[in-house]
Order: sequence, then structure tokens, then C-alpha cells
Amino acid sequence: MSNKQIDWANIGFGYIQTDFRYVSNYKNGAWDEGTLTKDATIVLNECAGVLQYAQTVFEGLKAYRTEDGHIVTFRPDLNAKRLVDSAKRLEMPPFSEKQFLDAVDKVVAANEDFVPPYGSGATLYLRPYMFGTNPVIGVKPADEYQFRLFGTPVGPYFKGGAKPITIRVCDFDRAAPHGTGHIKAGLNYAMSLHAIVDAHQQGYDENMYLDSATRTKVEETGGANFIFITKDGKLVTPKSSTILPSITRRSLCYVAKEYLGMEVEEREVYLEEVKDFAECGLCGTAAVISPVGKIVDHGKDICFPSGMEEMGPVTKKLYDTLTGIQMGRIEAPEGWIRVIK
Ligand SMILES: *Cc1c(COP(=O)(O)O)cnc(C)c1O
Repeated sequence: MSNKQIDWANIGFGYIQTDFRYVSNYKNGAWDEGTLTKDATIVLNECAGVLQYAQTVFEGLKAYRTEDGHIVTFRPDLNAKRLVDSAKRLEMPPFSEKQFLDAVDKVVAANEDFVPPYGSGATLYLRPYMFGTNPVIGVKPADEYQFRLFGTPVGPYFKGGAKPITIRVCDFDRAAPHGTGHIKAGLNYAMSLHAIVDAHQQGYDENMYLDSATRTKVEETGGANFIFITKDGKLVTPKSSTILPSITRRSLCYVAKEYLGMEVEEREVYLEEVKDFAECGLCGTAAVISPVGKIVDHGKDICFPSGMEEMGPVTKKLYDTLTGIQMGRIEAPEGWIRVIK
């Protein structure tokens, strides 16, 4: 498939097979040098560690074209570091930042035709991940692993403008204190599937998870961190050891402070105070920011003044500034943009 055959505006967020992916194997205590392959299938022993005890961690980032025609990625070094943190927590051998960045560069360059044109809103989503490959039946870490990185083109997250979503306060928990909520592991998603299917059945777009110890503090959704804007224009974002440290959220906090002159507070956020905020958004790589218009807490509606028609004004400014930096329309902080071509 060449890039001419893809209808970039309408591809949605699904898997489209691209030509090349990167594979490196870990055996006898070391990762091999890694290589590109055209083979999209994985053949595993029936007792592989990943299949029995879910020993797998992943990352997500995007490659895209900038205004001046380069193909770039956004802060991939932070994805590399986070993958190391995730791997260590699941007793997996860290994959080096250098090799991770090399894999990103190689996969993007080899699949250049799948990097959507500037202005289409579509991007090449990259999925690095690693998993235990050798047979494991007693509960213990695998001895052999595979790292893989493939790309799949994804369409614009918001077709025809970002409409605010409605979320519910969820009765299921996402992460326990001292558990694995802070790492990007498949296991955190497996246990969120029931909660999200149930939320959708009840007519909600997403779940707001609370801290599982006290159920009084806001944590995050299944795959995005919260930002709130106060009525006097401050950015507030929940601080917790059990949320996933979103790169988008960290970037937005920097942009708020350094580009927009806003005050930023990373602190515990109580559910009780959410009604007093002016705007609410969910942040992650896929959408950058999804505006939240309404939160339903067991039949009680919390409606933000920004309403259900459009992003709140401050959220919009943050969104425009960060996407401007990503797309090369606004000068980026040192080291944020990795030019591949
Ligand atoms: C990946 C992820 C995010 C978003 O992180 P980004 O680095 O901004 O893409 C937020 N929460 C969870 C649970 C995630 O897995």
C-alpha cells in the first residue's frame, strides 16, 4: 500500500499493517543488535511468560510531518525512559534509550509512505513493547524477551472539532497504592476493559478513577491524565504515585508555565473540589487534550462552565500551543522534537 491509497481523514484509530517493524531479542543476558523485518507475525511457545502471567509493557508515541516538511517524533527519549521504568517494575531487562531511539528512527524511515501529510490531522502511531517469550509455568520472570516496535497510521482524533465528552466517577479501581498504576503495562488495561465496556453501555465516554485507598481523590481515566483549569486561570493536575506519568501532561504543564505564563499546581485533587473548576481535559498522546464537559458522580452532574459544545478557552490555548510546538509552527523547547528526516 502506498500513501496515495490511504484516505487520511477517515482512517480512525485502528490497526493498519505497515511494511516494516523492528525486532530485538534478549537471550543469555543481552539484547541483540535488532533489525527491521517485514514479518508482522510472532510465533511463540504455548507457555511463553507473556501468555501465562502477562509479563509485558508498552509505549505509545507518534511520528508526523511538520509544517516545513520534516518527519519528526515528539520527546521519544521520555518514552524510552518510561519503558525502562515499566520494565524494571515487572522484572524485565531494560531496553536502552539509545537502541529505543534507533528503533524509532528506523521504523519511521522505513515506513515513510505511511507518515500522513502535514495538515491531515493523521499521524503514524508507534507502538514499542516488550514481552517474556520463553516457557514459564512456575510464577517467575521469563529469561528471554522480545522488544518490538511497529507503526500504524491513525486518523485525526477529532473529526470536525473536539466535542467535550461526558465521563462518570467509576466504582471500579484502576491502581492500588504501591501497585503498578504508574507503569505502562498491559495488565493495567486488561483489568480496565470491563469498566470501560460498562461505562459505554451506560452512555459515558470514559471512567474517572479515584484513589483506591480513600476514594476521595481524582486519579486519571483508563488511558489519560486529568488537567483542570481554575476560575482564576491556574492549571491544576492530580499528583499521585499511582497514576501514569503522561508525557503530554508534563509537556502541557511546561507550556502553561513557560509559554502562557500560567500558574501550575501539581497536587492532590479531591473529587469534592472538582465542581469548582472552570475547565477539565484529558491528556495523552492520542488526542493531546480531550475536553470534558460533564462528570457524573452517581447521578449527580458536575457541569463545567465551558459547556458541551467546545473546548474551554484556556484548554484551547494549551492545546493550540502544544500542537503548534509539535507541528513546528511554534518554536519548541530544546530537545523536544527529534527530526528523523
Ligand atoms: C499512556 C497513558 C497516558 C498518557 O500518557 P502520554 O505519555 O501522554 O501518552 C495516561 N494514562 C495512562 C494510564 C496511560 O497508559
